[in-house]
Amino acid sequence: MHRCNKKRKVEDTTTVVAAQKKPVTEDQRLETMNAACRTILECIGEDPNREGLVKTPERWAKALLFMCSGYNMNAETVTNGAVFEENHDEMVVVRNIDISSLCEHHMVPFVGRVHIGYIPNGKILGLSKLARISEMYARRLQVQERLTRQIADAIVETVEPLGVAVVVECTHFCMVMRGVQKTGAVTTTSSVRGCFESNPKTRAEFFSIIHGNGIKMC
Ligand code: ZN
Repeated sequence: MHRCNKKRKVEDTTTVVAAQKKPVTEDQRLETMNAACRTILECIGEDPNREGLVKTPERWAKALLFMCSGYNMNAETVTNGAVFEENHDEMVVVRNIDISSLCEHHMVPFVGRVHIGYIPNGKILGLSKLARISEMYARRLQVQERLTRQIADAIVETVEPLGVAVVVECTHFCMVMRGVQKTGAVTTTSSVRGCFESNPKTRAEFFSIIHGNGIKMC
C-alpha cells in the first residue's frame, strides 16, 4: 500500500515537471531541440562544437519542425473551401502523389507514393487538395497503416462521396538502413470505404487504373 502511494507521487511530480518544461513558443521549441540535438551528437561520439556541426542542431530542429508541420493543420483548413457542387458520379483517380514521412517507431523517413480514388456524390474536391491532404498526414510521426486510413477518412469527411480507396506504397528506411536491411522492400497498405468496400468490380477498376493497366471506356 505504502509503495503504491509512493510510486503515484513520483509519477505526479514527473507530470508537473514535464508540463512546466513544455516549450510553448517557436523560439522555446527551437532552443530546447537544439540542446537535445547537441546531447545526441555527444552521445554518438561527435563534437557538437566542431566547425561542420556548429549549426547542425539548429538546422535539424527546423527541419524536424517542418517534417512535423502537419500537426498544426486539419482537413478543413487544408482543403480551404475547394469543395465544389458537381454531378459527376464516375470514379476520380489521382495516382503517384509523392510523400515522405517519419516512422513513429524510429523517427526515420519512409518515402513513396499515394494513390487515391473516389466516386463523388454531388460534391468534388479540388484535385491538388488530395495531395495536400496526403502531405498533411505525412508530416506527422506515422505508421503507414494509420496514414492510409487518415487520408481515406478525411476525404469521406470532406466530400461525403459514394466511396473512397487509398493505396500507399512506401520504402521504410528503418528497414533499409538498419534491422533487416532490405533495400528493395516496398510496403503496400490500402483503405477502402463505401462502394469500394462493397463492390468488388469498383475496387478492381481502381486497382487496374493505379497499376497502369489502362482505363476501359464504356
Ligand atoms: Zn520504423
